[in-house]
Amino acid sequence: MMLSTREIQELDSAHYMHPFTDHKGLAAKGARVITRGEGVYIWDSEDKKIFDGMSGLWCVNLGYGRKELVDAAAKQMEVLPFYNSFFKTTNVPAAQLAAKIVSLAGDRYSHVFFGSSGSESNDTIVRMVRHYWTTLGQPGRNVIISRKNAYHGSTMCGASLGGMSGMHAQGGLPIPGIVHIEQPYHYGLAPNKNKDEFGLEAAGWLEKKILEVGPEKVAAFIGEPVQGAGGVIIPPKTYWPEIQRICDKYGILLICDEVICGFGRLGTWFGSESMGAKPDLMTFAKGVTSGYIPLGGVVVGKRVAEVLIEKGGEFNHGYTYSGHPVACAVALANLEIIEREGLVKRVREETGPYLAQHFAALSDHPLVAGAETFGMVAGLVLMKDKKNHIAFDESLEVGMVCRDHCFSNGLIMRAVGDRMIIAPPLVCTKAQIDELMAKVRICLDATLKDLQGRGWMN
Ligand SMILES: *Cc1c(COP(=O)(O)O)cnc(C)c1O
Repeated sequence: MMLSTREIQELDSAHYMHPFTDHKGLAAKGARVITRGEGVYIWDSEDKKIFDGMSGLWCVNLGYGRKELVDAAAKQMEVLPFYNSFFKTTNVPAAQLAAKIVSLAGDRYSHVFFGSSGSESNDTIVRMVRHYWTTLGQPGRNVIISRKNAYHGSTMCGASLGGMSGMHAQGGLPIPGIVHIEQPYHYGLAPNKNKDEFGLEAAGWLEKKILEVGPEKVAAFIGEPVQGAGGVIIPPKTYWPEIQRICDKYGILLICDEVICGFGRLGTWFGSESMGAKPDLMTFAKGVTSGYIPLGGVVVGKRVAEVLIEKGGEFNHGYTYSGHPVACAVALANLEIIEREGLVKRVREETGPYLAQHFAALSDHPLVAGAETFGMVAGLVLMKDKKNHIAFDESLEVGMVCRDHCFSNGLIMRAVGDRMIIAPPLVCTKAQIDELMAKVRICLDATLKDLQGRGWMN
């Protein structure tokens, strides 16, 4: 039975509770129904073709319709659709994938712990970090420092690690033992300051916080190499090396949440490589399977793994789907394609620089300020008067206005406040980047005209 768009919307509105959604608003408009995808495009139920500038939700890195991934899943489902990794058992794809990820991550790492999402994997990290320090006889070292506007998922731990005030406001978060410092957002916090100096200053906020909490109580610092959901906040190049220096100085663990940046998005296998950080633990999810099936996990550095394995005893933690054979088989196929097609290098040397050049050129648009990219992520801010650094009134939700023009013009570009962000699939060719940028300009022009019409521009 073929359902009409209206019928699907009615079912949806009556029964499906969506993530991060105001349902009254959604019911009034009806959800957009996405029905299929191919390459960098998706189609809705009215057969409208849309350029997916967000790779689904930062995850469909190989694009849609990759038959090899489908085949890997089907084949594994026939052989062994599920078995657990509790009780001294394992399965072939999980063992192979753990080895593969360690080989990509480098010598500092030895093990991988699997979950099914980024949120879960950050929960695992909180448990692991505290168990690590307890095993070393320092149970008082249990505070984890994170950053405002960070996104680390939506479970109790994930949302607590995250620095989203709207999330903290619901459900009594953050949980105890998690504190936040300001993010390294140069354009937003100190646009007139020298960028490199600002990077050092922003990293210095970590040291201040460590001293405030008491160095003997701090277990770890966590950060995304580039903050994604917070609006693609690309830190100055001085930031991460200084963060690393401070973590080393106080002996605290460094955690990089690589859920977006991992597996090539910044032009290196892990974003921390690009940023000059050497994390002890890395969270991954999203791009590990190009989003074809849920999988996440933690890459565990030798520093932590050796202690936990030698002295930690049983780690009383795990998930039914830890090391799910089908998810791991899809991930193996996904990583093989990334390697075979040389996508990491291509992002670093060809498509990333190409996107950088064209995205920066948007700065000539009257609405656009602070247009920046790194690899295949990009963000800009819509400004009422960029010369005098005057932002739009927040209540106007100018980002949403722009996002709607993007949808109307066949482009998925996401709004985070007044920041417009993209994270195209890593398979995006230069010709497709041209197409993407042409669409972005059309949408910015439409937004400008609209805002002028409403009398919201000077
Ligand atoms: C998406 C995301 C998460 C959460 O992953 P889920 O799979 O949605 O639980 C965690 N960290 C970062 C950096 C993310 O972008």
